[in-house]
Amino acid sequence: ATKSAGRGSYRFYIEEFTQATRTRLELRRRLHGALPGGEFTLVYQPQLNHLRQTVGAEALLRWSVDGKPVPPDEFIPLAEESGLIVPMGLWVFESACRQVAQWRAEGWQVPVVSVNVSTIQLREPGFAQALLGIAQRAGVAPASLVLEITESQLLDESLYAIALDLKNAGFALSIDDFGTGHSSLVKLKRLPVSELKIDKEFVRDIVVDPNDREICATVNALARALGLEVVAEGVETEAQWQLLVKMGCQRFQGWLFAPALAPEDLARHWLRPAVDDPLAQAVKNDS
Ligand code: C2E
Ligand code: MG
Ligand code: MG
Ligand code: MG
Repeated sequence: ATKSAGRGSYRFYIEEFTQATRTRLELRRRLHGALPGGEFTLVYQPQLNHLRQTVGAEALLRWSVDGKPVPPDEFIPLAEESGLIVPMGLWVFESACRQVAQWRAEGWQVPVVSVNVSTIQLREPGFAQALLGIAQRAGVAPASLVLEITESQLLDESLYAIALDLKNAGFALSIDDFGTGHSSLVKLKRLPVSELKIDKEFVRDIVVDPNDREICATVNALARALGLEVVAEGVETEAQWQLLVKMGCQRFQGWLFAPALAPEDLARHWLRPAVDDPLAQAVKNDS
């Protein structure tokens, strides 16, 4: 009996495995057609300061297959494996730049917009120049953009020179998912970054778990010592928010405030009219 049960579960495992592989292969195939097919969209999640004023927004990529959204955590790794992330990443960056220009033309006061960048993209020769060209063609200053790079991917020292190119081109750099990648202090000190994003893993239990609270407080103290800003992601409750404000975090992003939104919804609910800019106002009144 044991033997047949064993064989049964083995077969079950094989079926599950082939099913999962088939889905991955199918997803990968569909991903190849996604960019030419115009299937990607960007949504924007507001970042607020301690006064709940919008001071930033993160652009997040969305993709659906047969009407069902596929989480970025599933398709981004596939895109990285296949190299598709390179053209996709350029599309993301260009779309975000155009969106900034469009919001401005509509008369909104546009905060700094953060764009996620994969290290596969960073390794492309001439990456900083390519981004600079795209931003300039869209009429957007590099200083209005932040490039988010995941901590675990930044440990490779060969990337420091590229990070410096990006900084010299005028972009601000942010270390995403900070705390998950074991950066040494020496490396952190040498990286030309201007902000750290505390990973939502540490924010989630900050109210109940003294260890997570200590980690968040330490990241804030470290950032202060190095002159970096701290952004907290995944803020879902008032209690989490209040603790993070007390620790000195400057920016907050999470469902307590808003999920990632379509560009027009972000503008309507989270941006303010650029009253100081008569030209932008005129455009807005016309429409
Ligand atoms: P990330 O850059 O760390 O983005 C934050 C993730 O947290 C987003 O997931 C966001 O929707 C989610 N989030 C926001 N507020 C909350 C909250 O209060 N609670 C919880 N539990 N989650 C919250 P999303 O959009 O699914 O993206 C997942 C990851 O995929 C991103 O993590 C980023 O690493 C990657 N990604 C997304 N868009 C792009 C892109 O354009 N390029 C690249 N290279 N990676 C991207
Ligand atoms: Mg990010
Ligand atoms: Mg993050
Ligand atoms: Mg994250």
